[in-house]
Amino acid sequence: MDFELSPSEKQFRDEVRAWLKTNKPRDEATGGESQRAFIDRRRAWQKKLYEAGYVGITWPKEYGGRGAGFMEQLIFNDEMILAKAPDPINVIGLGMGGPVVIAHGTEEQKKRYLTPLLSAEEIWCQGFSEPNAGSDLSGLQTRAEDKGDHYVVNGQKVWTTLAHVAKWCMLVARERKEANPRDGLTYLLVDMESPGVEVRPLVQITGDAEFNEIFFKDVVVPKSQILGEPGNGWAVAMTTLLHERGTLGMALATRAQITAAELTEHARKIGRGSDPLVRQRIAQFTIEARALQLNGYRAVTAMKRNGIPGPEGSILKLMWSELNQRMTESAIDIAGPAGQVDDGDGWRYPFLRSRANTIEAGTSEVLRNILAERVLGLPRSR
Ligand SMILES: Cc1cc2nc3c(=O)[nH]c(=O)nc-3n(C[C@H](O)[C@H](O)[C@H](O)COP(=O)(O)OP(=O)(O)OC[C@H]3O[C@@H](n4cnc5c(N)ncnc54)[C@H](O)[C@@H]3O)c2cc1C
Repeated sequence: MDFELSPSEKQFRDEVRAWLKTNKPRDEATGGESQRAFIDRRRAWQKKLYEAGYVGITWPKEYGGRGAGFMEQLIFNDEMILAKAPDPINVIGLGMGGPVVIAHGTEEQKKRYLTPLLSAEEIWCQGFSEPNAGSDLSGLQTRAEDKGDHYVVNGQKVWTTLAHVAKWCMLVARERKEANPRDGLTYLLVDMESPGVEVRPLVQITGDAEFNEIFFKDVVVPKSQILGEPGNGWAVAMTTLLHERGTLGMALATRAQITAAELTEHARKIGRGSDPLVRQRIAQFTIEARALQLNGYRAVTAMKRNGIPGPEGSILKLMWSELNQRMTESAIDIAGPAGQVDDGDGWRYPFLRSRANTIEAGTSEVLRNILAERVLGLPRSR
């Protein structure tokens, strides 16, 4: 396999690199700012990326995308990480919302939703998890009652990232009770400004409130906002999750290499660079990060052949999340007692945030089940 970029891919990489060098925000590390100020700043950054043609790189041009290939998207993701540029605000919309509308939406829906999502005018959130339905999504209880030209939605979602600033929620709700709980679900795009939607932020171990509970009380959702076929929401939800792990996975492979390099710098700075145990640990992380990237190329090959992410994305998510936890833990160890009392030379936040890595976008246990069944072909666990 040839790992080299083609001449046109190299040209694209150089263009992106130069653009990021000039345009990357310089005001990231302000600290102590309000959530609102942070969101506004990230929204403005996404708008700038959009105007330069760097958001929705693989999306069709007629809906505001760049109409380029998957390789350009990967090159762009890598350059963003290498430049340490902040993520655009609409991570969920870009990673999942747009791709699922492109895959299952009607022409009107594509025209209505995609461009404001790209420009960050409208932020999206994902309303899948419920207090009693996380890993087992098919256990969800939120109801969508058919009232002719609209549904009435009642229920609760939880862990909904960005719900506090979102305009649209990708909501999976139960329209009918069927013998198979995966049947009878309907996938709706819910306007978060609708009467009856209440959002309550949840504060994480980091002190940030990235995610929320959402309560739906008699929320009216027009039928024009169904995505896919009524009662067939499971298939639409599965497309969403494949995109979640696929898109996420590739970017994570590069991120792991950067974290390993930063850890090396951290050990040197603290004066632990010649400690043989520290050196061995960092060498091992560096090897694993590289192996992750090589695995990523397999996912790219599958994606280029089939056009949709395959279960290989689960390998990347699983390996990265556990590696990232070990790397951030080591960073705190290397800092010694200082790591406990101050910001651990900048590692305290990443350490605390990494706790969520093995839960979000599928827990490690669930990903192992997926790999066992769909990649290795082992018998189903149940
Ligand atoms: C930072 C963060 C952001 C998130 N953002 C969103 C969001 O925007 N939208 C959204 O819908 N959700 C979101 N989630 C929710 C996330 O997808 C769920 O937390 C996750 O699916 C796990 O569900 P749960 O918390 O209900 O745990 P449970 O499903 O109750 O699992 C509890 C434990 O049991 C294990 N387990 C469950 N089933 C099995 C099995 N079959 N075999 C072996 N072990 C099993 C799990 O691995 C876990 O350790 C977010 C979570 C986090 C941490």
